[in-house]
This record gives sequence, C-alpha cells and structure tokens, in this order.
Amino acid sequence: MRVPEIPEEGAPALRAGDPPAPAPVPARPLIRRSARAPRWRARLADHDAASLAELLRKAGGTASAARAVAGKVVRHAFGAEPGAERPAPAWDAAALAALGVGAWAHEALLALDPGLSLEVAERAPSEDDTLRLVLRARDGALIESVLIPGPARTTLCVSSQVGCARACAFCETGRLGLARQLAAGEIVDQVRIAQALALAEGQARRGAPLRNLVFMGMGEPFDNLGEVLKAIRLLTDPRAFRFAPSHVTVSTVGVADKIEAFFREARAELAVSLNAPDDARRQAIMPVNARFSMAALKEALARSLPPGRRVLFEYVLFDRYNDAPDDADLLAAYVAGLRCRVNVIPCNPGPDPALRPPSAERLDAFVARLSGHGVTTLVRRPRGRDVGGACGQLAGMARVRQPAPA
Ligand code: SAH
Repeated sequence: MRVPEIPEEGAPALRAGDPPAPAPVPARPLIRRSARAPRWRARLADHDAASLAELLRKAGGTASAARAVAGKVVRHAFGAEPGAERPAPAWDAAALAALGVGAWAHEALLALDPGLSLEVAERAPSEDDTLRLVLRARDGALIESVLIPGPARTTLCVSSQVGCARACAFCETGRLGLARQLAAGEIVDQVRIAQALALAEGQARRGAPLRNLVFMGMGEPFDNLGEVLKAIRLLTDPRAFRFAPSHVTVSTVGVADKIEAFFREARAELAVSLNAPDDARRQAIMPVNARFSMAALKEALARSLPPGRRVLFEYVLFDRYNDAPDDADLLAAYVAGLRCRVNVIPCNPGPDPALRPPSAERLDAFVARLSGHGVTTLVRRPRGRDVGGACGQLAGMARVRQPAPA
C-alpha cells in the first residue's frame, strides 16, 4: 500500500469533528505558501544510503560518486553514537560543500527536508519510568512509541503503521483498523525524538542510553515491510544511527510469506507472536492464522532462519485460555527443532474482557513446565501498564479521542 499524500505545511492537522489538540503542544508557525514552494518536501530520513544514492544517480551522478555522497550525507545528518547528542545538521550549499559534496548534487539533496516528520503531542510517564509518547504526523495521524529505560540499556518500542489491519482480539491497536502506512522517515523519527528525550532524561538521572529497538508498537511491520526495512538499514548503518542489528527486533503476527524476505534483506532479530498452542485457539484470537497456519509458519521459519540465528516466540498468556500445563507441552512440541526462545507475556488488559492475565501461580507453573522441556523461556514483566503503554495497549487516535477525565 502506498503512503497517502501528506498535506501541505500549514494545512489543518486535524479534521473537523476531531477534538482540539492536547494542551502541551507548542503551536507550529504557519509557513506562508509561495507560488513556487513545493507542495510537499520529501524527507531526508525517508532514505537509507542506498535509496539516497539512487536518487543522486538520477540527479546525474555516476554510481560510485552517488554512493560516496550518500555515505557522507547520512553520516553528516544522522551520524552519532546512540548515546550522544545529534544536533540538527547544517543543511545548505555551504554545508554540503564543506562535506566535499560537488555542486551537481546540491539541488537534489537540498530538496530533501532534514527536519522531523513528527512532533510530540503527549507524554505519559509511568510510575515504573516507562514513557509513553503520542506523536503527531504532518497529516494529523497519531501514533505511539514507548521508551522503556533499563539498568543496562534503554529500549524504544516503535510503531510501523497508523493502526493495524490484523485485528487480534486481545490488542487495542487491532481494534482501530489500518489508517495508513508509516513512511521510513516517520519510523526513524520516533527514534530521533526518543533519543533526544532519553538523552535529556539520562543526563538528569544517569539512565542508560537508548540502544535497543523493538518493532512492537502499533501496526504489523510485515504489512509495511519496505519502509520498515529502509528504516532499519538507516538505523543500523554504522555511518548513521549505529544501532547494533542484534539490538533491533521486529515482531510479526506471523505473516509467513514475508519471513524469507525479511531475513534476506535485514540484519535484525525476528520475533513471532504465537499466543496459542494450536490452530483452533490461535485462529479464534488471531485472524492471520486462517491464512497462515501454525504448520506453515513453522515451515517458513525452518526454511528461512539463517545459520546461527534464532527466533523469539512471543506467547501472551491468557487465564484458562492457553495457560494450562498441557498447553505448555503442546507449545514445547511445536517449537521443538527450531532454534528459538519463548517470551511468555502475561496479558495486559485489552479490548476483550474475557481475556485476562493468569494468576502468578499459573504463570509460574506454565513457565516451569515449558522450561522443563528444555525450552529457553523468558517472562516479559509488564511495563507502562498504568499509562496504557504496555504490550497491546497502544491506541493512538482512539486514545486521544477519548474524553479527558474530569
Ligand atoms: N503486530 C506485531 C507487533 C505488535 S504487538 C505482532 O503482532 O507481533 C507486539 C506484541 O504485543 C505481540 O507479541 C503481541 O502478541 C503482544 N500483545 C498484543 N496485545 C497484548 C496484550 N493485551 N497483552 C500482552 N501482550 C499483547
């Protein structure tokens, strides 16, 4: 699906009937439209080095000159250690000349906007130090990112779509349906905004720098794979954002026919949301299972997992739905033969009141039973639940549309 055209600068961000924007957002100055002003300036962060080189080649550069300039530009605009400050890059002909970029490339480059495509609409700090961010895109679309500080490193949970088409019964985002895809730059900009915030917070509290990214926010990354891959390439480019590929995890609902392309094109980790131990129960809560059965999913993973890599299965635990000892046995049998770990996630309150978290005893028994089969099992403790920032709770537009509590 194509990213819909974004309205001009200065166009109203919200449609009639929408509530007023939340208070803490500073007003963006309206940019006067001149007859020659471009309707929409393409963004630098929408390009990884390869697509930038392609653009420069079309602007008249040789393939090698285009590659060299693209490398210089991504280093100039985005190059900094994950924990270091990244000031807005100087972006004019003089700055490009100082980088050693020939005049032939200036027009094509300066047509790209190096600025942010998102602004912070709301910050919701949790008692556990998690920070849920609502971010507003140029067309008014709202997405959420969650910054999760940890002792060793801080993690950002990023969104890949506005809403989601996959309609999982337990997930708030699934209730929204899909509004539109995010452009690569809108994915990258979640990281740019969070890095600046993490840096400010870190300086205040000596927190760890942001080094870990998980595509576990709003949306199904494999339904927007092209933009997600482009963003990952820029984020892991050693000249640009320098995230270690092993610290970037993409979570899919199980779109089995995209797994091979993912491993071919990305150096990042894969997580797969399983959430049930058999097809009948998985299908009842995850419509994707009607298209890709658990057997098809396993077959795609077995075929595509590169040597030495392993997959992370996510298994959300629902009280008396999928948390019996027998279910742990079924799950162990399913994952047998695949290099993997299983992340057990006690469910967070979601749209279906019948799906509740298990008791601590049932959780512990399930984990012990699964580990007993020799499966590497981790438990994901909920973070950010009090501010609706935990797994499955990200609701973007829907949340902001809710009336504020009196
Ligand atoms: N679409 C992707 C990524 C977004 S969801 C996917 O499905 O994997 C990220 C993780 O949160 C998934 O493992 C999902 O199963 C889990 N999740 C969704 N709703 C949840 C809930 N109510 N409680 C706990 N985890 C939930």
